[in-house]
Amino acid sequence: MTELNYVPTICPYCGTGCGIYLVVKDGEIVGVEPWKEHPVNEGKNCPKGKNAYGFVYGDGRLEKPLIKENGSFREATWEDVLEIIADKLKDADGSSVGFINSGRTTNEDLYVVQKFARCVMKTNNLDNSSRFCHSTTVPALLSTVGAGVMETSTISIGKADCIILAGVNIHETYPMIARRVRKAKDKGATVVVIDPRETVTVKNYADIHLRLNPATDVALVNALMKIIIEEGLDNKEFIESKTSGFDALKDYLAKQDMSELEKITGVSRDLIREAAEAYAKAETGCIIYNAGEAQHAEGVGNIQTLADLTLLTGNQGRPGAGVNPLRGHINGEGFGDMGPIPVFYPGFVPVSEEGAKKFEALWGVEGLPPEKGMSYMDMIEKCSILYMMGANPMVSAPDINRVRGLLENKDLLVVQDMFMTETAELADIVLPAQTWAEEEGTVTETDRRVQFMNKAVEPPEEAKPDWMPFCELAKLMGYGDKFDFNFGAEIFEEIRKVVPTYTGITYERLKQAGGIQWPCPSEDHPGTDTMFADGKFKTPDGLGHFQVVEYKPPAEPVDDEYPLALCTGRILFHYHTGAMSRRTEKLNFEVPEALVEINPEDAKEKGIEDRARVVVESRRGEIRPIAKVTDDVPEGGVFVPWHFAECTGNALTGPSAGPPSKMPEYKYVAVKIEKGGE
Ligand code: SF4
Repeated sequence: MTELNYVPTICPYCGTGCGIYLVVKDGEIVGVEPWKEHPVNEGKNCPKGKNAYGFVYGDGRLEKPLIKENGSFREATWEDVLEIIADKLKDADGSSVGFINSGRTTNEDLYVVQKFARCVMKTNNLDNSSRFCHSTTVPALLSTVGAGVMETSTISIGKADCIILAGVNIHETYPMIARRVRKAKDKGATVVVIDPRETVTVKNYADIHLRLNPATDVALVNALMKIIIEEGLDNKEFIESKTSGFDALKDYLAKQDMSELEKITGVSRDLIREAAEAYAKAETGCIIYNAGEAQHAEGVGNIQTLADLTLLTGNQGRPGAGVNPLRGHINGEGFGDMGPIPVFYPGFVPVSEEGAKKFEALWGVEGLPPEKGMSYMDMIEKCSILYMMGANPMVSAPDINRVRGLLENKDLLVVQDMFMTETAELADIVLPAQTWAEEEGTVTETDRRVQFMNKAVEPPEEAKPDWMPFCELAKLMGYGDKFDFNFGAEIFEEIRKVVPTYTGITYERLKQAGGIQWPCPSEDHPGTDTMFADGKFKTPDGLGHFQVVEYKPPAEPVDDEYPLALCTGRILFHYHTGAMSRRTEKLNFEVPEALVEINPEDAKEKGIEDRARVVVESRRGEIRPIAKVTDDVPEGGVFVPWHFAECTGNALTGPSAGPPSKMPEYKYVAVKIEKGGE
């Protein structure tokens, strides 16, 4: 009888980083078992984790390089395609070349792509899908506490006695972190949920639901802070010794009219007071937020006010406290740490003259560009050559009809992926990539937890790890000695040298369940559960900096023509662009197509019945999903998941906002809805 082999690894979906065993029989994955000793998920997994392998053998898995000729793909050899790409890149000006990558790839992959772009192409035109998730988080938290990261660990959330869940439907999108919230609640913690929708999280966890009008978060948090100050619940000792800028915030809030804030938010002052008191009086208050705060054009302001709230109450530097962004991807933190972004080198060293010199010395090269590169949408618009590693903007980017036109007109579009995705179909060259089960490497989860992924099975035919083609291109382009990597372990050794927060982390140490949370400065350091535990923030002066943030109404408000506010988001059974979850039979069985949630009053007005096909239209496009009539969404609001390429909310969303985040508006889009459609 063939023996089953249990290979410990990490769930490939969200940024929680649950441990799983892949069950392997005769060289093929046949199942998933929870990794019982793993401290993050303690032997539990959500539906995605329990089915985390079907896609490995899913439809459209790429096995060989492909070149498009006369509108059709033909198989090619790696030698041929790499030579074509290298020749094009040699002739190109680096400023016209862009590299877009994904948080499903490993730290090793991301480190190599950014090194290639900078050393070989002399460009900082690098970006990734975090542009559409947490590009607001980094500037917001840098300006307040000096580090754009989760402050506590997912495990320590259970120690909080008041938890504010702001813009995060945690039960569906991070089920195993939701368990920690449940544990805290069972011990008596108060849970406050800020969300316009009455989600399953509200129903199952909320003691207080602040059901605000869409996109009024800044006004709501300003109201919370105003009450805390007026009631004398602010932590004066903490504010005095550890922060700056409080007087300006206090003056600003004193001038705010509470009746006006009630009107803007739609939440009564009594309920706001109840939440303010619960949070300010807690021993350990924890704020957890995600896309509902971050994926707004004004998301930086949303997050700055949440950080202000922690500084105001001194909820910092203790396990279970702080302001905590939840990252969406398996390597959601790593794709900041490794520097494949236009404004930071690895280790969040700013792109600048000084930064360029530092990395020229570390890498032994000359001419690194000191200017910031283009961000995701700018590259799609302006670069003539684009190299996509695992990115699928034809589902994830805003205003995809426009994106299609831009991608179809590139001099060269290379897509390296596991599957023939919607974006790969538009490519000139498609390169087959390995899945997470077919290579060893590391990822860094939402709470700065670096974890090791074992290789469980062999890849199909000619699929390669994502980092490898860049090393081969570097050789063809005269930089082979800088990319002499044969294994992920060799890349990680270089990462340890150039990213100080990773110095004490080794492949060997990472083989323990639960990995190591950075900063980890030496090999005898256990890793860091809680940021700022020494009482100092990572700002240049070590203080927390209050920011005054004024509420701004949405740039494209609802009107008579487009009277409903659309919010896009994620659901329990699917993940991001659906490339993996929709190729997993059991997940697809549960939710095979997109539903648009609409309030019964709005449905009645339009004569829309539950389960009827409808047309949802914005100024940029339309989709034809099935209606789900439910008062989970407020009157005047609709919700559409964005996982379904044929019916994604991103056919409706608008262009990127301006600096500093360039975050598109994903959570408030003016739409209209009619019954009918095919
Ligand atoms: Fe996987 Fe996230 Fe579910 Fe854990 S919570 S099993 S990491 S999808």
